[in-house]
Amino acid sequence: MPEDKYACVRLISKPQNLLKTIYTACRTCYSADSPLNIFDCESAQDKEKMLKLINRVISSGHYSTIEHVQVSFAISNISRACSHQLVRHRHVSFSQKSQRYVKEKGQFDYLIPDTIERNPELKEKFDNFMSEISKFYLELTENGIPAEDARAVLPNAASTSMVVSMNLRELIHLANLRLCTRAQTEIRILIKRMCEELVKEEEWLKDYLVPKCERLGYCDEDKSCGRKPTKEQIL
Ligand SMILES: Cc1cc2nc3c(=O)[nH]c(=O)nc-3n(C[C@H](O)[C@H](O)[C@H](O)COP(=O)(O)OP(=O)(O)OC[C@H]3O[C@@H](n4cnc5c(N)ncnc54)[C@H](O)[C@@H]3O)c2cc1C
Repeated sequence: MPEDKYACVRLISKPQNLLKTIYTACRTCYSADSPLNIFDCESAQDKEKMLKLINRVISSGHYSTIEHVQVSFAISNISRACSHQLVRHRHVSFSQKSQRYVKEKGQFDYLIPDTIERNPELKEKFDNFMSEISKFYLELTENGIPAEDARAVLPNAASTSMVVSMNLRELIHLANLRLCTRAQTEIRILIKRMCEELVKEEEWLKDYLVPKCERLGYCDEDKSCGRKPTKEQIL
């Protein structure tokens, strides 16, 4: 994967008591004690103990326990094609740079897909085409067309930025779907970077923020990349 281009990602927010919050949620389900006592108890200081229970509860599919933790990322330098794929995830909250309120003043920024960039002749044509679009966009806005209508000519390649927030359950779901090699390269890189940002601070999550085949033990796609045996091979 072309690691040096596409998304810039920073984790900008996560709860201070991430592990303790999940642990309290898990134990609340199986304890006569109150959540507050569980939160304050000694075992909620013991990382190993908390992780043992949390891993057991998540592995059993008791996912509501990880919905209490919300993380936010600042994302820039992704294409509108990529952001459109991301906004299909309905449990994610988005604040995206507006093409209605932010008028392009010169050549708009855009992302060139790697497959095109690797072909110098096509890359040159691509750049020229973006420049033509930009000229026409500016012609429209200079003639009084509001940005919200002039944007009709902007391409899927136009770059965008957004702040996205989601709970841990949704992030794991997102990783399972979009880290799969069947997902498009750009969104795969974006989600990989989001996961890496969080794993830097919460190393234990690396076993969950994986393509779905890692969790299933097999591939359920029509066209498999071969990383895991297919469902048919397993059955
Ligand atoms: C490789 C790949 C190719 C794709 N190609 C296409 C394509 O060609 N065309 C296209 O339109 N889309 C395509 N998609 C998008 C896909 O169909 C989903 O819209 C997207 O991945 C969001 O997934 P989701 O619905 O599981 O997740 P989310 O919206 O994040 O929801 C998470 C989970 O919540 C539950 N949920 C959410 N909303 C509902 C609901 N209304 N009813 C019941 N349960 C719900 C489901 O269990 C769901 O899995 C593609 C996605 C991938 C990963």
